[in-house]
Amino acid sequence: MSKENNYNECELLKNCNFLQKYNEINEVACNILISLYCKGAKQNDCKRKEYRIKTGTPPDSNMMPNGKSLKP
Ligand code: SF4
Repeated sequence: MSKENNYNECELLKNCNFLQKYNEINEVACNILISLYCKGAKQNDCKRKEYRIKTGTPPDSNMMPNGKSLKP
């Protein structure tokens, strides 16, 4: 049986500046976020995606998928 879930990958994944930045700093945490959001059930709850759709521009690279900032 396949371990893959049934969710499509977020179309923004290859250009996500948050993941590009933080993958080098904490790859384990990023992989958890990717499986939850970018390739998972919470993809349509992603605040980064919501921002991008609303404004047409990428959010700040420090904004997490839950909308909180990693920088004060
Ligand atoms: S963090 Fe959000 S916008 Fe970025 S790739 Fe993942 S689901 Fe898409």
